[in-house]
Amino acid sequence: MDFVASHIAALSPSLTLSITSQARKMQDEGIDVCNFGAGEPDLDTPDFIKEAAAEALAAGKTKYTNSDGIQELRTAISEKLLIDNDAEYAPGQITVSCGGKHACYNAMLACLDPGDEVIIPAPYWTSYPEMARMVGAEPYIIETKRENGWKLTAEEFEEAISGRTKMLILNSPNNPTGSVYSREELEKLMEVALSEDVIILSDEIYEKLVYAGKQHVSIASLGKEARDHTIIVNGFSKAYAMTGWRLGYTAAPEAVAKAISTIQSHTTSNVTSFAQYGALAALKGSQTFITDVVEEYDMRRQYMMSRFQKINNVDVVEPEGAFYFLVDTSRMGLSSMNLTEKLLSRYQVAVVPGVAFGYDHSVRFSYATGLDVIKKGLDRFEQFCHAH
Ligand SMILES: *Cc1c(COP(=O)(O)O)cnc(C)c1O
Repeated sequence: MDFVASHIAALSPSLTLSITSQARKMQDEGIDVCNFGAGEPDLDTPDFIKEAAAEALAAGKTKYTNSDGIQELRTAISEKLLIDNDAEYAPGQITVSCGGKHACYNAMLACLDPGDEVIIPAPYWTSYPEMARMVGAEPYIIETKRENGWKLTAEEFEEAISGRTKMLILNSPNNPTGSVYSREELEKLMEVALSEDVIILSDEIYEKLVYAGKQHVSIASLGKEARDHTIIVNGFSKAYAMTGWRLGYTAAPEAVAKAISTIQSHTTSNVTSFAQYGALAALKGSQTFITDVVEEYDMRRQYMMSRFQKINNVDVVEPEGAFYFLVDTSRMGLSSMNLTEKLLSRYQVAVVPGVAFGYDHSVRFSYATGLDVIKKGLDRFEQFCHAH
């Protein structure tokens, strides 16, 4: 007897995690792998954040907290959203969750009925469609165009809307493309969302990682009505190198926030108590180290861009945010799984196949890895491309 529910059996495990573990296994066997699979910063959490969590632990902050998070942290997030993002959400509209991933899932569970459609622009973060399916909703994928910088246009959005559309998922800066939406582009999308009454899940986890003078704009900053149609998802994993801490949050319109709060009170309850004090320190402390991190990423980004441009049979759009390149490999005519497997087994280069992001003619390179590995890995990738 197979006890697995049919709607769960239909899901696929996260490919991004599986490639990473395959590459790790090879490394453990002593093989020199250039790993571009990473979906997390290659540095440690800043010390002042660790110290705050250690102090909280020593001080006995080891009990249940409010299910939505400690009040000081929700207040600090509310202030951060106003100052950084020009988005006014009261502390009561914020729920601290176990990472941005959990925050996305809570938001979908709170808003979507079985049969509702969720518009997801591809290439997308691999978990969005599976989360939508888990809550019984239907992902509606729109393939964005490389010539539009992999960004969803208002026209494409409008055309995709049906009577069942409830939500649009927007991720800027984007994983895997690195694209960043401008204020003007967001205004056009919001205009459609307002006229069709669609809620936007705005995943802003990479907001601090933008380059070349580009600005991150939160779609929730476009006014009161926009805020009433937006759930912001953000977290500490990417900006503060805190992936293992599991800290994210939602800021949502009141009724949705209340639903998220109810869901969380019956499922995970609060995020680890002392970890929340680390998050509080992260928001309250000096943010200057982020500037250094961005400078380092930008240097790697520029180096990789110059290398990719010299390889004949691939195409790239210059990423403006996050820490990824989506390399378009359509001209090689290999499926992304096939390409990824060959690249790993024959050239010891680990990348993530585009099929995980809903665009099979591509692979994703992360630059959350040192420049020495980047240089060696791109030499190998270049050889691979020339042989295909
Ligand atoms: C990393 C990531 C997240 C959240 O990660 P957590 O570790 O769960 O906070 C959310 N969205 C995107 C697009 C990401 O790449």
